[in-house]
Amino acid sequence: MNSDILNKRINELVEHINTPEKRKKKENSNLKESIYTFTLDELKEWLQEQGEKPFRAAQIYDWLYNKRVKTFDEMTNLPKQLREKLKERFALSTLSTIVKQESKDGTIKFLFELQDNYSIETVLMRHDYGNSVCVTSQVGCRIGCTFCASTLGGLKRHLLAGEIVEQVVKVQQALDEAGERVSHVVVMGIGEPFDNFDALMKFLRVINHEKGLNIGARHITVSTSGIIPKIYQFADEKLQINFALSLHAPNQELRERLMPIARAYKLDQLMEAIRYYTEKTGRRVTFEYGLFGGVNDSIEHAEELANLIKGIKCHVNLIPVNYVPERNYVRTPRNQIFAFERALKKKGINVTIRREHGSDIDAACGQLRAKERVHETR
Ligand code: SF4
Repeated sequence: MNSDILNKRINELVEHINTPEKRKKKENSNLKESIYTFTLDELKEWLQEQGEKPFRAAQIYDWLYNKRVKTFDEMTNLPKQLREKLKERFALSTLSTIVKQESKDGTIKFLFELQDNYSIETVLMRHDYGNSVCVTSQVGCRIGCTFCASTLGGLKRHLLAGEIVEQVVKVQQALDEAGERVSHVVVMGIGEPFDNFDALMKFLRVINHEKGLNIGARHITVSTSGIIPKIYQFADEKLQINFALSLHAPNQELRERLMPIARAYKLDQLMEAIRYYTEKTGRRVTFEYGLFGGVNDSIEHAEELANLIKGIKCHVNLIPVNYVPERNYVRTPRNQIFAFERALKKKGINVTIRREHGSDIDAACGQLRAKERVHETR
């Protein structure tokens, strides 16, 4: 589908969804809680409260995460009266797919509509090592990074744990048709995951659980813009999950320009928190460094960056950033990207350049959603 037709289609769909009649109907209806929000233990507890046998929780989990059914009626080894209770209490689907956009390289972007009409996006990326899903953790974002389209409308609301889990389930259901599996999950979509910490932790427990989606901790990555108290909290959880920091600048002044959050959380204190994390968990951290033409991409910046992270068990991921129309940032030229990489390597830093995914569809985080945001009424 060419992008003009796609944009028109998104706008038509969003207009349809946001008609006052439809919205009123949704607001009046009793929205049910997603069953994917529940950990296995919470489900056991609920079953006990209902006078049901706790072993049913494992059966329900099997239907949800292994068989990936789309209705409660398909849970055929549960008594009918329990299926009715489940239907009454929970929603099995709180996301509906309104756009599925596929790139030539196999990347798929999903635009999902939530029960309260907000929309979020989720991306499936193909790698030689497996299929990775990038999930969204909030509707919008309040962090205000100057290069990010997702923050322009501010934060609308936090996602519930079940809404984050369901993004992975929905992508897995789409892959089921081809007999493929989601092998990796990255929490790097719209939103700051540490700003929605409790839901994030619950999401991680559910997708990592052997009876849940059973995605190995080392196949999951969480990325933050640098909310320092939450970095300490995350470190104390001692998870084997990969951890990334969106750094983007080698000094305080430049980081403040790119990421206003740096005014509240100073770079030296942030690096202290990162050191605490690596010592506490024994794991390395990934520093995400977006290259913005003429802003933070000189050899001097590379050397300053190398000095900043010296001695930290880490890896640097360079991200050549595409043109951001609202912000006037331009792409770093190719030879400069490689020069930056060489300068870091020369200083003994482990570094890679991120491969682009879905460059023929809306590539940067938030772009797809940004198209429909003009039609948002809440
Ligand atoms: S880059 Fe991430 S943390 Fe920063 S504003 Fe965008 S969504 Fe929020």
